[in-house]
Amino acid sequence: MSGAEDEYEDRRISEELLRRERRDRIKVKDADDYKVVEGVLDSRTLMVLYSLMKSGHLASLSGVVKSGKEARVYLGKAASGGDLAVKIYYAVASKFKRRIMYLEGDPRFEGIKRGPHALAELWARREFMNLKQARDAGVRVPAPVAVRGNVLLMEFIGEGGRPAPLLAESKVDRGDYDALLRYIRGLWRDAAIVHADLSEYNVFKWRGELVLFDFGNSVDARHPLALDLLRRDVETVNRFFASRGIDVADAEEVLREVLGRCRPPPGPALAAPSWSGYPGTG
Ligand code: ATP
Ligand code: MN
Repeated sequence: MSGAEDEYEDRRISEELLRRERRDRIKVKDADDYKVVEGVLDSRTLMVLYSLMKSGHLASLSGVVKSGKEARVYLGKAASGGDLAVKIYYAVASKFKRRIMYLEGDPRFEGIKRGPHALAELWARREFMNLKQARDAGVRVPAPVAVRGNVLLMEFIGEGGRPAPLLAESKVDRGDYDALLRYIRGLWRDAAIVHADLSEYNVFKWRGELVLFDFGNSVDARHPLALDLLRRDVETVNRFFASRGIDVADAEEVLREVLGRCRPPPGPALAAPSWSGYPGTG
């Protein structure tokens, strides 16, 4: 392609993205939310999407699948024609207080940059790494495809552009409970991470199989809060299955089983996190 054609293609893709963005804009409750939504596909994000298209990772982007608190998920197409989930993190510092806390103390992210854009990029990169570690450990998660800037590409779980049903929306049985506990253990022992936001809303039940997702908050097993977060995950899972009439095991017993002899967690102990210097953590 000539330079002029390149430029034309650049502009065409940006315009197409902006058009879709306008068409798919979600309804927002208040002015603050609106600012966040407006800011999602800023020029910076458009450039990242464009670069993913140029490098052949992404062929096209269609509508919004869902807007969450910290990111928005779009449906995309891979060059192969398969569906992709395109998760775009918002660059808003005030929304990240909890995430900053989790990040501090994660040895994989020492010497991180600060500021809203750098953080959004970091969450994307972190979710990508967590997905990769989970997958390598044999835990079923959306396969990570690529990460660039604040944009994460991964396998789309679902069909016809519609995401798979969540565990919360599915019939569940004892087998699902056992499978989820096995996954929790696999994450701890083999991936050395804790999901840290595990609930019936962050697990798909797809074709009879559980698929864990939303790993943006997951922490390294050496994180000073890892055990507390693990306990919270187990308790949340227990509460859900108990509410569905399943006879759940005692949470402390589950924890002991998950930890096995891997206690204390692998790796050197870390210093307690310091809270200074991060925006919004005061
Ligand atoms: P929330 O604040 O609601 O937890 P979030 O911003 O943390 O959302 P996710 O939980 O990762 O984002 O994803 C939000 C929604 O996007 C999911 O409930 C699901 O409907 C859809 N989604 C996310 N990842 C995928 C995927 N890999 N395949 C299909 N749909 C997905
Ligand atoms: Mn979620």
